[in-house]
Amino acid sequence: MEKYVYSFNGEKTEGNASLMNLLGGKGANLAEMARLGIPVPPGFTITTECCNAFLQSGGSYPKGYEDQLEEALSRLEANMELAFGDPENPLLVSCRSGGRQSMPGMMETVLNVGLTSETIPGLIKKTGNPRFVYDSYRRLIMMYADVVMEKAEGIEAVNGNGIRNQLEKILAAFKETRNLQNDADLTEDDLKTLCGLFTERVATVLGEEFPDSPVAQLEGAIGAVFKSWNGKRARSYRRIEQIPDKWGTGVTVQAMVFGNMGNTSATGVAFTRNPATGENTFFGEWLANAQGEDVVAGLRTPAPINDATKRETNKGVKSLEATMPSAYQELESIRTTLERHYREMLDIEFTIENERLYMLQCRVGKRTGTASLVMAMEMLEEGLIDEITAIKRVKPHQLNELLHPIVDPDEESRAQCLTEGLPAGPGGAFGHLAFTSDDAVKLAKTHPNVILVREETNPEDIEGMRAASGILTARGGMTSHAALVARGWGKCCIVGAGDIAIHPSMKKMQIGDKTFNQGDILTLNGTRGRVYEGKLKMVDATEDSRFQSFMKMADAYRTMGVRANADTREDALVAKNYGAEGIGLFRTEHMFYSAGADDRLFILRKIILSDTEGERKAAVRELEPFVKEEIKETLKAMDGMPVTIRALDPPLHEFVPHSRAKQVELAEALGVDLNEIKRRCETLQESNPMMGHRGVRLGISFPDLTEMQVKAVFEATAELAKNGHHPQPEIMIPVTCDVEELVFVRKIVNRVCEEVARQYGLAAIVHKFGTMIEIPRSALRAHQMAELSEFFSFGTNDLTQLTYGFSRDDAGEFLPTYLEKKILSADPFQTLDPLGVGELIKIAVERGRETRPDLKIGICGEHGGDPASVRFCFKAGLDYVSCSPYRIPIARLAAAHAAIEASETKK
Ligand code: ADP
Ligand code: MG
Ligand code: MG
Repeated sequence: MEKYVYSFNGEKTEGNASLMNLLGGKGANLAEMARLGIPVPPGFTITTECCNAFLQSGGSYPKGYEDQLEEALSRLEANMELAFGDPENPLLVSCRSGGRQSMPGMMETVLNVGLTSETIPGLIKKTGNPRFVYDSYRRLIMMYADVVMEKAEGIEAVNGNGIRNQLEKILAAFKETRNLQNDADLTEDDLKTLCGLFTERVATVLGEEFPDSPVAQLEGAIGAVFKSWNGKRARSYRRIEQIPDKWGTGVTVQAMVFGNMGNTSATGVAFTRNPATGENTFFGEWLANAQGEDVVAGLRTPAPINDATKRETNKGVKSLEATMPSAYQELESIRTTLERHYREMLDIEFTIENERLYMLQCRVGKRTGTASLVMAMEMLEEGLIDEITAIKRVKPHQLNELLHPIVDPDEESRAQCLTEGLPAGPGGAFGHLAFTSDDAVKLAKTHPNVILVREETNPEDIEGMRAASGILTARGGMTSHAALVARGWGKCCIVGAGDIAIHPSMKKMQIGDKTFNQGDILTLNGTRGRVYEGKLKMVDATEDSRFQSFMKMADAYRTMGVRANADTREDALVAKNYGAEGIGLFRTEHMFYSAGADDRLFILRKIILSDTEGERKAAVRELEPFVKEEIKETLKAMDGMPVTIRALDPPLHEFVPHSRAKQVELAEALGVDLNEIKRRCETLQESNPMMGHRGVRLGISFPDLTEMQVKAVFEATAELAKNGHHPQPEIMIPVTCDVEELVFVRKIVNRVCEEVARQYGLAAIVHKFGTMIEIPRSALRAHQMAELSEFFSFGTNDLTQLTYGFSRDDAGEFLPTYLEKKILSADPFQTLDPLGVGELIKIAVERGRETRPDLKIGICGEHGGDPASVRFCFKAGLDYVSCSPYRIPIARLAAAHAAIEASETKK
């Protein structure tokens, strides 16, 4: 016979914490606490299996359940020396829901089950506290009517005005007519009257009397908790959190203990350590003379449990520590017992009945990223956990929080949000407003903090974006230009804030009826997408030296390399600081976007818009020293580490001037008239530039452009090598689809390499030559591509675009719908698609290494900093991932997790 009911009490406890799946988290942990000798009101848990059987059969219980329930209930009665429904010594119980994984507020709980016209007088007599009894009864009526009589029956409340809401209104109106502030001010008679009003309303609205039989109440409550698994809210929560429908919920039936018996009774919730900061201080809230959810319901403001955690705002109220010292001491010692036992920070619920403490729940507590790291390191030092456990305690994405200054959560909670947009770039920023890129650059010279506000951004805004501390746009999605650039830099950014009306020519904008001018100050929270007026305080989260030790510890377990996508010396230094072991992607074109790049950009434009071979060659020669200098600086910054330099990639029209002034200037330099420049710009326009004249195609159409870039790399390398440095350049060719493209380019590379070596009197110039794999065809032809390539780097942005046939620039139009309608489970531009794109990667790895066993393979798309994608790369056997500097710690930790996971599954 299957066992459906597991008892827990001071004498005999059948469950334990390892039975999470069968008993649900709440039931399993209550059993575990009972086993530890912690005071837990006795009870029993009905299994998730029983829930599944009940729901599948349409509401009947499996064979054997009834008998087991009866037996467990008698055991509970014996334990409590009370009897369920007994007029003299009545037992009251709670019926509590609890799945494997916590689903906060999604399922139901009913308290005070067993109060009826027969048991009420008995309980009054026994406790001598009629106020408490009627307080409990009115709570039972409200919860039971809501959970059992309405929701579980599938009754849809008209206009959302459900029975709970109606009863709450009755309560509020009652307090108002009597001029009472708090529930605590209600007298025995008030509560008795309210109970009458409640039962009347229940009968009229739901067409059924409130059940006056304890057995009917218990049956109703258990069934309703099971049914709440399939409630609307619970179902949609599961879909979002990807919790399987078949898990089911357990029901815990537990003897009631009462926090509402008067001022020596109380209820509260606590965390064994501070969940926001990780600090090892007991942290919680409590309310005297209260029951159940009162602490979280917000009707009364709870007080801190101890004096150590009081704040400015609540320093006047009395802590539990000061009010009931002995109960508090016991709670504190349970805190220690639980932490030692679980080796985790726990979230606990407790109730005090006439100064006697009872534990009602414990579970692993949720925490911020900062807190995760602090707790992991401290518990390691305390000897509670080992290194691997400590590393696994911090989720890679949680590090995000630590890597950027953030808006002080305290100040933010008090500030009024002006408007919202999409959280496109992490962290917080405040600054003076600028409405054009130029203004941002100018303003930044005198004011260190600037917020650039644009309708949307394009590559011409790059300088302003760099100069700004934060970026705000009125249009655009999570993959818009502003969002991509900002994330890459780790810069605070909010896009698509549709309530903003910008008037760039007047240097002002409007949000609602407020006007903001250039120079006014706003604060952005890029992690939440919120905009605030004025300056909010920022806090820096990286100061902690624990962060450094934590990362070092994780690195010891990591086997895969982590490099950075960095385009300047400055980025390279940031990346190195964050632990990059090389550069996986140096985008040559970025040297034309950066601050002070006007001269170079001007020459590049001359190359692009020149008409004759002679004109072009001259301009190319003119550009070379700039390119060389930039490459040299980066190689030097990363001395001794590999730097992958990608040949010019983007379509040429991205560089042509749009503003009239710039076009005039260029016309003059080239000695042609403005209309001619305009015409040449137009001829460069392509209808599908992403698949147009870009990447290696440019290098083949204009071999001198290739030659110039390669020469710059080799000269920079030669000069550094002669000065005792150890540059390790890797020349990478983008957008290839056939080995013949590599044959063509490599010839130039080899020739220039020999020439430069000779010129500098060197025997050879150490370098590597390789290709990006970002077109499905080159993945499929990897065995041939590897004949010429010493390394592959997967450009997964383009590879995703071309594998799906989704334009990166236009996907914002339909991807959100795809995600919402569950046609795709994740955005493939954010998390590498393991099934399609991933399959191509696996094919390319396998075929490439067949040709060249020591082929070095990495990834340099945006995915390199996404933990799930990093895990995929590890499994696919890649040598390294490369990502933007600010995501390096995330990638390092994700790679350490992947290695640990692999070694654990091997065991
Ligand atoms: P949730 O999962 O929503 O937290 P719970 O089952 O924990 O729901 O119950 C809600 C509240 O009721 C909790 O604050 C808990 O302390 C209180 N509670 C539950 N069972 C009892 C009981 N047997 N005695 C006293 N209070 C209880
Ligand atoms: Mg709870
Ligand atoms: Mg690409």
